Amino acid sequence: MTDYILLKQGELVLKGLNKHRFEQQLLKNIRYRLKPIGQCKVYARQSIVYVEPMDDETDMDEVFDALQTVFGIKTMTRAAACEKDKDAIVALAREYLAEEFHRAASFKVESKRGDKNFPLSSIQLSQYVGGELADAFPECRVDVHNPELTVHVEIREDAAFVHGPSVLGAGGMPLSSNGTAISMLSGGIDSPVSTYMIAKRGVRLIPVHFFSYPYTSELAKQKVVELAQILTPYCGSMSILVVPFTHIQEEIQMKCPEKYFTLIMRRFMMRISVALEKKYDCKAVVTGENLGQVASQTMEAMACSQAVSDLPVIQPLIGMDKSDIIDIARKIGTFETSILPYEDCCTVFTPRHPETHPIVEKVAEAESVMDIDGLVAEALAGIERIRVQV
Ligand code: ATP
Ligand code: MG
Repeated sequence: MTDYILLKQGELVLKGLNKHRFEQQLLKNIRYRLKPIGQCKVYARQSIVYVEPMDDETDMDEVFDALQTVFGIKTMTRAAACEKDKDAIVALAREYLAEEFHRAASFKVESKRGDKNFPLSSIQLSQYVGGELADAFPECRVDVHNPELTVHVEIREDAAFVHGPSVLGAGGMPLSSNGTAISMLSGGIDSPVSTYMIAKRGVRLIPVHFFSYPYTSELAKQKVVELAQILTPYCGSMSILVVPFTHIQEEIQMKCPEKYFTLIMRRFMMRISVALEKKYDCKAVVTGENLGQVASQTMEAMACSQAVSDLPVIQPLIGMDKSDIIDIARKIGTFETSILPYEDCCTVFTPRHPETHPIVEKVAEAESVMDIDGLVAEALAGIERIRVQV
């Protein structure tokens, strides 16, 4: 009996003419993800992706776990296959779902016919299989309205499949199906979550981290690398760009009014991110900003940094409550690392009384005493790339 995994595609099925491209990307991502785990055949038929082990060594539990972080999959289930014969289906269901039957007090059978040549209708097949299973497991009664166990029978082109309940997949759209973006990744709670959320929309991300050594320590950098590493099952392998930011921060502190420190610093971050977007053919920059959370996240303050970007700034967390952001951080496993107490460059030289309702022109005038282009070029030239692998 071959142990299959069946994956239902999410929004992809709505994609019309582009569907094929999205589906191919999903298959490619699944194959890439499973390569280190084992040999599997991966193919799609009628919006279902089939994952079939090619040898006995492949650990299908491990395959299942790995697939739970692949975007583009709505639900997933383990399944077994047999020939397209009603008695073979009954025999398979008895054996394959025996444990589930012993646990459940009630069940029903739901059938689907992908192959319209099958001699029984879906209803006839459900009735037949249900009747036989009711005889086989008399302690589990039939309940078509509210069963504890639903036995799914699917008649497909090549075989009949039997499976129990499905679990939710990672959702979203296949990674790389929606282009590439820069993600500004600090060591905080928010930006790993915003990175995850945009990866979920099918965007491949290049994390950028601004690093102010020695004001922020080597441990702060390691923390960001670790966060990116934790994200790789969702985001794939990534190259983190670590931008030397010390000189820029010192110049700001020396030459600009204190109330504008954070605003001007964020404008530099944005300029550098935009330069990197162009270099790596990205279409947007993603940040973990959240309206009203800190002084630099008023609408006026965000307008100041966005004024130096000619590409979209995507802020997936903008309207979320912190507690909801933390729930996601815990789910994806970044929370415990994010709360390690290493300082971020944003907390170095924090103004005592930051301007929360700045006027863009005034901030631009205040920073014009610096050699902006020179500082940006210097930072870009000093970038360190750190690779994290799934
Ligand atoms: P986070 O929890 O992501 O650090 P935050 O609530 O602390 O966010 P800020 O410090 O104002 O908010 O930062 C807002 C956003 O700016 C961050 O979510 C991140 O996208 C970006 N950012 C801040 N500091 C850095 C940094 N050192 N390197 C890269 N991006 C940064
Ligand atoms: Mg922060």
